[in-house]
Amino acid sequence: MEPTMNAALGAIETSGIRQFTRLARATPGCLFLTLGEPDLDTPLPVREAAKASLDAGQTHYPENNGEPFLRKAIAQFEQKRHMLSYSPDEIIVTVGATEALFTALFGILNPGDEVIIPTPAFGLYASIVKLCRGVCVPLETAGSGFQIPEERLRAALSPRTKAIVLTSPNNPTGCIYSQETLEMLHRVLRDLPVFVLCDEVYRDLVYTGDFSSFTQFADLRRKLIVVQSFSKPYAMTGWRVGYLMADAPVKEQLEKVHQYAVVSIASFVQEACVKALAWDTGDTVALYRRRRDAVCARLDAMGLPYTKPQGAFYVFPSIARCGMDSATFCTRLAREGKLACTPGSCFGAEGFMRISYCYDDATLAEGMNRLERFLQTL
Ligand code: PLP
Repeated sequence: MEPTMNAALGAIETSGIRQFTRLARATPGCLFLTLGEPDLDTPLPVREAAKASLDAGQTHYPENNGEPFLRKAIAQFEQKRHMLSYSPDEIIVTVGATEALFTALFGILNPGDEVIIPTPAFGLYASIVKLCRGVCVPLETAGSGFQIPEERLRAALSPRTKAIVLTSPNNPTGCIYSQETLEMLHRVLRDLPVFVLCDEVYRDLVYTGDFSSFTQFADLRRKLIVVQSFSKPYAMTGWRVGYLMADAPVKEQLEKVHQYAVVSIASFVQEACVKALAWDTGDTVALYRRRRDAVCARLDAMGLPYTKPQGAFYVFPSIARCGMDSATFCTRLAREGKLACTPGSCFGAEGFMRISYCYDDATLAEGMNRLERFLQTL
């Protein structure tokens, strides 16, 4: 007799993005616009701080939730930059936003609990929910400019709803929730026993002045879990640092998950993270905005419709007019057009593809040339 694996793993597939990337890698000469990570280097002062920490012997177990000086710096940063009031004791520094999401969902879900996931969505949420033996309830937003319509939200809610995930700016659309959508969400969710998981890892990569967040509703603080990351704004994907913020009683339960899963993040990156918080991201935002405008101008010229991204570094054009599903379209684009973009199906949305614009100008221009040529062959 063979031992059996955790049955929850049977419900999870390898990341669709990984599978597709493997296929494209096997195509000689293929250009990639698939990555969800900055092409920039981590700022020099941040790297230097990590080296200094190593030289100073900061190589021992740190505090579980992150060193007090880092949590204090995060609390001050959140207050100043995002007007969010969390004390250092309401913050857990995690192994990227990925662990923050895992810790949050594992900490709140009982088997059979439902999590509403507006789609298109980053695939990680569904995988974690399934690992936690929860149930994903997709809420389709493609037909409503990637905003959440009230009637669909109400239809998705049930007595088993435990949480809703709000990702703004969004991966893969780059869209942000309007104030109207946020107020509707607040009105509907206010009196329900539902956690609101705000994944705001792209919050500091926003190209509009009127970004607002669900975290503005301080009356729901008890139900809010805010997830952040150093990965995207500071080009620190490989450092694996993020954090979550939650009201003290919630955080006190969540820290048990964090403690037993990972103990803590690495010790010698924590001073460096303080430096990152002080880094001015203005140039980075200006760079991505310029790239977004360049890619969108090319899509306009090709006649591919899209909802203008207002944050993150993705655009999600519709390929519905091409008469193929997104996996077929992207596979043909990779094989025949030598350009890899991610099928919308990887994000639970047919009829779209994700173009990532965290690449240099020449790569983006060549990518758009290849897309244009491929479209002409159809
Ligand atoms: N949330 C969203 C919306 C993302 O796009 C990503 C990464 O692509 C993550 C979370 C995970 O980020 P991290 O590198 O901090 O684990």
